[in-house]
Amino acid sequence: MQSNSNRTFRILFEYAVYPVLLVGFFASFAIALDAGVAPGLALMAITIAHMAIIAALEIVMPARPDWGWSNDRQVFNDIVHGILLDFGGRIGTSALTILLVTLFTANLPGAVWPIWPVAWPFALQLALAIVVYDFGDYWKHRAYHQWNWAWPIHILHHNPPIMHVFKAGRLHFIEAILRAGVVSAPFVVFGAGTEIVWWIAALGNGLGGQNHWNVKTRLPSWLDAVIVTPNTHWLHHAKADRYQLCNLSPFTLWPDHLFGTFYRQPEGGIADVGVSYDPVPRNVFGQILTPFIWPILKSRAENKAAQHDHGEGQPIDAQT
Ligand SMILES: [Zn+2]
Ligand SMILES: [Zn+2]
Repeated sequence: MQSNSNRTFRILFEYAVYPVLLVGFFASFAIALDAGVAPGLALMAITIAHMAIIAALEIVMPARPDWGWSNDRQVFNDIVHGILLDFGGRIGTSALTILLVTLFTANLPGAVWPIWPVAWPFALQLALAIVVYDFGDYWKHRAYHQWNWAWPIHILHHNPPIMHVFKAGRLHFIEAILRAGVVSAPFVVFGAGTEIVWWIAALGNGLGGQNHWNVKTRLPSWLDAVIVTPNTHWLHHAKADRYQLCNLSPFTLWPDHLFGTFYRQPEGGIADVGVSYDPVPRNVFGQILTPFIWPILKSRAENKAAQHDHGEGQPIDAQT
């Protein structure tokens, strides 16, 4: 009897944890903005608290006990990359501003083409912003996976062989520059308010933290087809090449449905995440330099592989 009620409670918790934490994240952000807290400060504090709660849950109720962050020697690197994203975002925003001022001096400050429906209710404006952002970010993400020259920017996010909350911020800072300077450009050009831009950032942090998480979660299967969830995003991280061009949208999955890249996890889940070819260094400086020294890393990896083939060296697989 006791174990039955425990089991029921556990199942209920596994259903509730995803929506409760996500709603909690956004409600906290809304309350902080209402109280007049600076959006950047509010978002940073809520993101850190959210990550701390998730990190604790990953220890208590992991989906994959073998993917624990406490044994992952890359967690420090993940956190450094996460911090650098903030600087990347600032660089992207500044670069965009400089470009627009240079091209359209007469129209600034203000929108270059002020067609954003600022009179709409805020919720509708945010829904429109999500549609616009999903479209742009989908194609940026797809380019990383389809264009060989862009892949060295994104491989850092895909090379870990495990998933947990700290992997959400493991993105090269160039990705943040492109997000702020290119994908978010329509909001600046069309005159959406800064509050919209902050809410898009909040959606990214809230959903990002939960999509990478290693928390035992139960979700209705319809939700996997509507928004990005751990089920769909883990599949995007699957090691099998056929899955890496799937589930590319950042928030809602309408671009994946429209452009034919939506996939559900197969029965039995995913065997492995990561990449099959990984010349990325283990140290954080090498990882930051990766997109700039990609040809050197490639030839070094190929030399090592050749040595290994001749029985003279060690295998390249450094993800241990
Ligand atoms: Zn990707
Ligand atoms: Zn990811």
